[in-house]
Amino acid sequence: MSAQKEITFATDDELTFGKWLNNIWVGLSTVLKGMGITFKYIYNVKPVTIEYPEVREELPANSRSRLFNDAENCISCYQCATACPVDCIYITAKRREMDAPALKTSDGTAIKLDLLQYTIDTALCCYCGLCTTVCPTECLTHTTDYEFAQYTLDEMKYDYLATDIRAWRERIVK
Ligand code: SF4
Ligand code: SF4
Repeated sequence: MSAQKEITFATDDELTFGKWLNNIWVGLSTVLKGMGITFKYIYNVKPVTIEYPEVREELPANSRSRLFNDAENCISCYQCATACPVDCIYITAKRREMDAPALKTSDGTAIKLDLLQYTIDTALCCYCGLCTTVCPTECLTHTTDYEFAQYTLDEMKYDYLATDIRAWRERIVK
């Protein structure tokens, strides 16, 4: 008579115990994983925050933040205002006198209009960059400045013919 191997099946109680052990392991390993990430930040292995405003984030050079119009190179062509999807660029210009001395931009484009107003309502601007794309003299550019919050919406209208505007540009461009 040949010997027959006895096959045993786990009981329902044993399966429950196995699941219970597995749950404990999953719970412990999850906590350890989470604490590992926490300790990584505590010990400065991978900092994700900065001590603003003592430390300032440097945005990439191609960031689309506050706009700057180098008004001396603006030919008042209105292309930026026309391209703007939210109509937040306000330009006023008038034809130059016939006998006025010839003016040119830095790229040699003739300036035929006197720019009287160039204002951008940055509260409306969606920073799409369309205005800078169409500017023929490239005088309208985005800067990397993100610190221009104001208390009122009116103060968000920036006048690019204002006397202090170039000083602002020079301050933010390193
Ligand atoms: S970035 Fe876009 S929304 Fe802002 S002024 Fe230029 S075109 Fe208008
Ligand atoms: S597109 Fe450029 S040159 Fe023309 S009005 Fe606008 S900023 Fe000036």
